[in-house]
Amino acid sequence: MNVLLPVTLPEALDMLARDTAAVPMAGGTDLLVHWPVRVEAHDRTYVDLSRLDELKPLTWKTDELVLGALTTYWDVIQDAQAGREFPLLVAAARQVGAIQIQARGTWAGNIVNASPAADGVPVLMAYDAIVVLQSRRGREEIPLDRFYSSYKDMRRRADQLVVAIKIPRRPYSFQVFEKVGSRRAQAIAKVGLALTRSSAGWRVVAASVAPTTRRCPSVERLLETGARVRSPEDLQAAISDDVAPIDDIRSSARYRANVMARVLYHDLREFWGHEA
Ligand SMILES: Cc1cc2nc3c(=O)[nH]c(=O)nc-3n(C[C@H](O)[C@H](O)[C@H](O)COP(=O)(O)OP(=O)(O)OC[C@H]3O[C@@H](n4cnc5c(N)ncnc54)[C@H](O)[C@@H]3O)c2cc1C
Repeated sequence: MNVLLPVTLPEALDMLARDTAAVPMAGGTDLLVHWPVRVEAHDRTYVDLSRLDELKPLTWKTDELVLGALTTYWDVIQDAQAGREFPLLVAAARQVGAIQIQARGTWAGNIVNASPAADGVPVLMAYDAIVVLQSRRGREEIPLDRFYSSYKDMRRRADQLVVAIKIPRRPYSFQVFEKVGSRRAQAIAKVGLALTRSSAGWRVVAASVAPTTRRCPSVERLLETGARVRSPEDLQAAISDDVAPIDDIRSSARYRANVMARVLYHDLREFWGHEA
């Protein structure tokens, strides 16, 4: 295993530009979990980002929260302002693994790992997060809801690092995160759902029901019409347009689609109850 230890961002970007097979490493909680079985990964070069102090801060600006690429779940849990303004970030962070993983795992690593069952990605997407990428060739910003093209495929070139995640600050009239797993902790989501409503409209983001975490435009359109949904079944047509669940060892496609409709309906009833 060849590990490079840059101490500045330009140095790290040079390393990635020189060797496009090099792999950035943040907390290592995804990369190292398969280490014993992925023997072919042992010969690659890893660029350890942990000494890049400029990627560490979590910064509150007037109109946005900026998570440096090394911001961990624990950093967010500890930030009282995040709990007030973006409670879904804290709710999701608390459900990632256990404290050891929360202390090492980063939001940027969750994005680039691109698991369809990720917990960080849906809440970031529901808050309209923007991924900030940087390479020797310059800086680029991509809305997270346009970042993934297919399973584990994303708009990041090999020489680019995620350097930050930007989240616009705005008031929300409704926000909820749901993770349905086989137990309350240390579980991989069978269905994940992040819902927000603000002046920008509804955001309905689903995880574990498609090859990527994704927004549900048909469901969002249905909610924008203000139509009253009288049962989970009333949501099924829009949900079928938006997601493509699969059968796997964790659950069946039918189960996932049903659970998504029921959880969504339950949350919407709560929203309408408060509105009435
Ligand atoms: C026991 C255990 C439990 C877990 N539970 C959960 C869970 O409940 N929910 C959940 O969502 N995840 C879970 N995970 C997965 C993992 O912890 C998260 O996805 C975490 O956010 C990954 O962050 P990291 O910093 O450790 O990423 P790393 O492992 O360092 O990297 C992950 C990927 O991102 C790339 N990468 C990292 N940082 C950058 C960057 N700045 N720029 C470009 N590429 C980058 C790496 O090259 C790699 O491809 C669990 C993992 C373990 C081992």
